[in-house]
Amino acid sequence: MKVPYDCSWTVRKILKLRGLGQNFVKHHIGNGLGTSLWYDNWHPWGPLYKILDDRTVSRLGTAASATVSSVISNGIWHWPRPRNNLIHQIQMAIPGNLVPQIEMEDEVRWHISPNGQYTTKHTWEAIRSKSEKVPWASLVWFPRNVPKWAFILWLACLKRLSTKDRLRKWGMEVDPTCVLCSQADESLQHLFFHCCYSSNIWEVILYRFQIQRKADLWNSEVSWAIHFCRGNSFQSLLFKLVFAAAVYHIWMERNSRIFGGRSRCAPEVLDSIDEYIRSHVYSWKVIPSSVENQSMCELWKLPRRIFGPGIPRVL
Ligand SMILES: [Zn+2]
Repeated sequence: MKVPYDCSWTVRKILKLRGLGQNFVKHHIGNGLGTSLWYDNWHPWGPLYKILDDRTVSRLGTAASATVSSVISNGIWHWPRPRNNLIHQIQMAIPGNLVPQIEMEDEVRWHISPNGQYTTKHTWEAIRSKSEKVPWASLVWFPRNVPKWAFILWLACLKRLSTKDRLRKWGMEVDPTCVLCSQADESLQHLFFHCCYSSNIWEVILYRFQIQRKADLWNSEVSWAIHFCRGNSFQSLLFKLVFAAAVYHIWMERNSRIFGGRSRCAPEVLDSIDEYIRSHVYSWKVIPSSVENQSMCELWKLPRRIFGPGIPRVL
């Protein structure tokens, strides 16, 4: 079927994926009545029309609309006498365990799924390009992160945030000065967290985790954070959440100053981070009531109702 000229963009894109999807659909032969001999994916080599031209098909004495049942007789393969070597090879390529089951109907299976049924998960795994897991993956992608925070943090980890140094590399004429401190040129390394404005926020956050260290350049902070938040403790999870919140809110403050003409001082941004963290953690509900966790909750002024006995459901 050709792609209709007047169909929508979405339908057009879906129809163009038919070739890809066809590879995932496998016909398991029963009586062969429900499977096209030439066009369906039942042979180990895939749809045979891809390797045979119309002339060869017609010379074989079978119609283009033939089903697999046309080469089955009394439950065994019964192909017309091969007239060329390719047809002979097609017959020979059928494995010994591919035997017609004439008492059964053909079965169409989504063969990349274990149960033969279509699933988004297995399809995505089959088509996505895979690469080595980045060391910061668990810092960005974890249950309970806020999607918009994770997205900005992901861009930062990829070094794809549109900071002024990048804009200037692309030839855009922008004032290179950091709008948060007005004391240095804006770059990812400067914004997070070498800038005096953002380091004020970040160092308060570190202090609440009882960490005494000066804020450093982005690369160093990410490397350190990956090491610090290993494991699934409440502290690790809270740290990852606050890290994402800090990057997001500092980036939003930067955007607000450039595009909205509004500015807030560092303590106000920190208050905003606190507010979001408290309301978010409040929904977790069950955290083990250990001394460490209680101390963490006091430092972050989190509601005490999140404590509960036993294993936390949220971690
Ligand atoms: Zn700055």
